[in-house]
Amino acid sequence: MPLRTPDQYIASLRDGREVWFRGQWVPDVTAHPVIGKAVRHATIDYHMAESDRFRDLAVVTENGQAYSRYYKIPRNAEDLLLRSRLIEAATAEGDTLVVLIKEIGTDALFALLAVTAQMDDPVYYQRVRAFYDHCRHNDLALATAQTDVKGDRVRRPSEQQDPDLYLRVVERRDDGVVVRGAKIHTSVTPNVNEVIVLPTRAMGAGEADWSIAFALPVNTPGVKLLASPFGDAPVNPGERPISARHKMMETMTVFDDVFVPNARIFLDGDTRRAGALALTFVEYHRFTAVSYKLPLVDAIVGAAAVIADFNGILSATHVREKLISLIAYAETLRALTHKAAERCVPKPRGQVAPDPLLVNIAKSHFAHGYHTAVQHLQELAGGLLVTGPGDEDWAAPDTRPYLDKYLVGRKGVSAAQRMQMMNFIRDLTASDYGAYQEVLAIHAEGSLEAEKLQIFRAYTDNGSAGRVMALARRMAGL
Ligand SMILES: Cc1cc2nc3c(=O)[nH]c(=O)nc-3n(C[C@H](O)[C@H](O)[C@H](O)COP(=O)(O)OP(=O)(O)OC[C@H]3O[C@@H](n4cnc5c(N)ncnc54)[C@H](O)[C@@H]3O)c2cc1C
Repeated sequence: MPLRTPDQYIASLRDGREVWFRGQWVPDVTAHPVIGKAVRHATIDYHMAESDRFRDLAVVTENGQAYSRYYKIPRNAEDLLLRSRLIEAATAEGDTLVVLIKEIGTDALFALLAVTAQMDDPVYYQRVRAFYDHCRHNDLALATAQTDVKGDRVRRPSEQQDPDLYLRVVERRDDGVVVRGAKIHTSVTPNVNEVIVLPTRAMGAGEADWSIAFALPVNTPGVKLLASPFGDAPVNPGERPISARHKMMETMTVFDDVFVPNARIFLDGDTRRAGALALTFVEYHRFTAVSYKLPLVDAIVGAAAVIADFNGILSATHVREKLISLIAYAETLRALTHKAAERCVPKPRGQVAPDPLLVNIAKSHFAHGYHTAVQHLQELAGGLLVTGPGDEDWAAPDTRPYLDKYLVGRKGVSAAQRMQMMNFIRDLTASDYGAYQEVLAIHAEGSLEAEKLQIFRAYTDNGSAGRVMALARRMAGL
């Protein structure tokens, strides 16, 4: 099967899937006013594969067969760097919003391949490999549902007041298992073909039923997607240049006693490997995260410089300081992301993963600095971010002359130009979309604390902790 066209992708989503939006069943996600926007945003992936500009980056040809680069199993630093470049380019096409319909799913596939390759029973690796071949061959779009609803955060899955607060196996049959539970915050689920389910944490003794990983088509009976309405208000394209065209949907992904056939079960009852799988996914996924943050931080630096110029303040000392701080923020992220690929670590069967230490430092650097970066940009832009006119004011002959006269910037910058940049910054930082990016920065791909834990663990595991302690002891004469 060749790579899919955007139209084939869209048609594949009309498959009877059970999606709910504000309490209403959605008969066709592609025709829905909000989810349809997310569908069109996601077609960026398929358009890039067809375009002269991106084809070499977006498509890999092996043995005469073309397939999406997202499915290229990383075997060296170059593979990871090209993957990162593709994610960065796709997110730039999304005007700072990641596409994600293959990024997160292939992160999960790489983790599943790496972890099942180490299992004594080869059947699990064979199942993952067959599923990977199926997805790659059919150019499928994938979601990954890892985060459970979790109830009381300090209690283990087996200690919760309701055992279904972490997704679990409730019945075992000869031909498969029945699962029950709900995953939360699952991105892109309404507009992909398959959902991969992973454990969200390490499991302990007695937690075999929660140690489950599998994949299912989104239209499997019992899979219910409760789509988040966040940011669903209609917007004018002039006022909201990003969010008028781009959208990502999250769902509460309910598994209401869903049958999973044996061929789609990738981990079952292996409490020891549940944690390894959760962490290996995160190693790949945080690399995706820092790659897709690059166009976002670049847009902040660029917008800060342009609006400072338009406002006539470019040469002011405090402006220069803020721009330098933004440049250092963005370029540190880029350097760490690329270095994480270059310092990749081996996984079974010739696979590699980005250096977990640098990936987590990169993600932590991004997340801790994001709100300050937004603050700098908003400070340089001024209060018009939230007090400026609307598209209708520009269209009305009674009001337009005042806007043209009074909203100009420095000499040579028209009011329309200045407000176009202002509207971009407003959408980026002071809208539903801006708030979405701020929460995404803190929580998506793991919370700030999760990254700190991983930095400490990776520094210890790679021998750095021992090395620096020995160095300090020697220098102290111990
Ligand atoms: C926009 C968006 C998209 C996302 N997309 C996906 C996706 O596609 N797939 C997916 O699986 N997940 C996804 N996530 C989930 C993301 O990984 C989680 O939000 C993140 O792991 C935090 O989990 P939580 O939201 O349940 O917050 P919580 O875990 O409830 O965290 C809230 C606070 O509690 C603290 N806390 C939690 N547990 C403990 C504890 N035991 N002891 C002390 N403190 C604790 C945290 O540090 C944090 O400060 C997405 C999230 C967002 C915001």
